Amino acid sequence: MTDVANSIRTIAWLRGDLRLDDNPALAAAVRRGKGGCTAIFVMTPEQWKQHHWGEHRCGMMTGALTALRSGLDSKGIDLRVLRGSDDAAIAGVLLDVARTLDASEIHANREFGLNEERRDESVRDELLAPDIDFIRHEDQTILPIREIRSGGGTPYTVFTPFKNKWLALLQDTGIPELATVGTARRNPKLDPDKFLPGELDPSLESRPESMFEPGEEEPLRRLERFLDGPILRYHEDRDTPSLDGTSTLSPWLACGSISPRRILHRLVDAHGPTIERWAEGPSVWLSELIWREFYRHVMDGIPRLSMDRPLHAWTNRVPWRDDDARFEAWSRGETGIGIVDAGMRQLDRTGWMHNRVRMIVATFLSKHLLIDWRRGERFFMNRLVDGDFPSNNGGWQWAASTGTDAAPYFRIFNPDRQAERFDKEHEYIRTWVPEFDTAGAFPPIVDLKAARVRAIETFKTAKNG
Ligand SMILES: Cc1cc2nc3c(=O)[nH]c(=O)nc-3n(C[C@H](O)[C@H](O)[C@H](O)COP(=O)(O)OP(=O)(O)OC[C@H]3O[C@@H](n4cnc5c(N)ncnc54)[C@H](O)[C@@H]3O)c2cc1C
Repeated sequence: MTDVANSIRTIAWLRGDLRLDDNPALAAAVRRGKGGCTAIFVMTPEQWKQHHWGEHRCGMMTGALTALRSGLDSKGIDLRVLRGSDDAAIAGVLLDVARTLDASEIHANREFGLNEERRDESVRDELLAPDIDFIRHEDQTILPIREIRSGGGTPYTVFTPFKNKWLALLQDTGIPELATVGTARRNPKLDPDKFLPGELDPSLESRPESMFEPGEEEPLRRLERFLDGPILRYHEDRDTPSLDGTSTLSPWLACGSISPRRILHRLVDAHGPTIERWAEGPSVWLSELIWREFYRHVMDGIPRLSMDRPLHAWTNRVPWRDDDARFEAWSRGETGIGIVDAGMRQLDRTGWMHNRVRMIVATFLSKHLLIDWRRGERFFMNRLVDGDFPSNNGGWQWAASTGTDAAPYFRIFNPDRQAERFDKEHEYIRTWVPEFDTAGAFPPIVDLKAARVRAIETFKTAKNG
């Protein structure tokens, strides 16, 4: 190895990838940083606020960072936590830190969303003149979803053909390798007396009581528990909100405490390398992981989705109602519709909501109440512990019939009928709405039948425009 290669000092800029396991940017920074490697994290509370992250989501992030610090230290990697007000301030912060550490390479894993892309472009521009390389790595998905394109070269907007291409690509490329983080050399330019570790913002760290323990260990435990049994019944149990039928891995996937490639490796260990031969449970579960990749693919390929705009332009003509009173009732779980109230209260108490119920409450807001799906999307983002821009935007646009692979606008879930199908004994509803059986506790805020007719007429008029 040349002297030059031996003296390269690197920075791993951690963002939505707070883990040691299978972390491509961190692994590359350690590998390349023969002259020293340092990890940094830039807290941008203003940016988090602009992205509507609430206390659960911020707490998950800062908790993961605290847990990661000792793991990094055991690998010889110093972590420095810095502060920038928002994304616009980041390029300057990085330049300063690169100069202090005399680093010539900054490695980071790619994130999705237009703001994130623009932030990275301005970082690259800022680092160009001082000759610091900014190197991005693919990370948040199992496969490089930018490579998946329809015959016309455009991104897919319908799930099934995307999934077929995804499976074909996996077959061609094989199961992706995991990125192992080696032991690093500490950067001799880092003077611990001058460049302090950096404090987390105490207001962000004081997270609410949570059933989701931040860090890398808990998601691995949950994955093993799920693979040990529930996955085999997933296709039957996943729609029943009173059961623990799903993996509940979303909070850790959202902040990058577990890698989706690690999950695929464990699936293959358990069920073999030939996916077509998997039983129904694991196959259906893999499809859900592919939905996550699909929403990232769409957001990446269609920038207007990051800009508060619907996929289908005609839905801009839907006259959403400014109905604050009903929005409040929905958000407090006081609509008088049992399954809707149960879902919204589960969200309020835990920061998480079952997928079937997310679909029901989102449909209720955007169709029965005709309230703009973007209000619901923001509310969810603010309350969810697993708030994830592509999946949340995708889920809301799906429910409101404005987005990808959308349910046609005239197919509207009746929440009571959904409850009859998926919560027959009202077990889930009673858990979250103890007064459910008390007659007249909360009279319904809309007549479901009339509201359905109104939604269909409104969407029809908008479509015929
Ligand atoms: C209106 C609405 C908003 C949503 N907002 C979010 C969000 O902010 N963050 C989020 O992670 N998921 C979101 N989802 C998707 C889904 O509800 C959750 O991912 C799922 O409930 C998480 O539970 P789990 O980890 O037990 O999932 P499992 O059923 O065990 O699935 C495994 C993983 O696959 C992914 N996944 C599962 N279903 C979906 C889906 N429909 N779309 C995209 N990814 C999926 C998740 O990462 C999940 O952790 C939303 C869905 C709707 C309808």
